Amino acid sequence: MTTDHAAGRDQETGRAHAVLRTTADLPAPWAALCGASVGVVQGRWDGPRGTGSADPCPECLRLAAG
Ligand SMILES: [Zn+2]
Repeated sequence: MTTDHAAGRDQETGRAHAVLRTTADLPAPWAALCGASVGVVQGRWDGPRGTGSADPCPECLRLAAG
């Protein structure tokens, strides 16, 4: 099963987290895969705002890859 993820951003730390696409359509805030609460969702997790960002969440990287 492939799961599409969106790139979420923790506005306090600037860290990027992975958010399930299915929940990205709901109102903010969103719960990231690691459990963190993110206030912004911007683009794809496998894009420059997600895994390609300066500080992607290591836990979300692991969970999204699995
Ligand atoms: Zn995370």
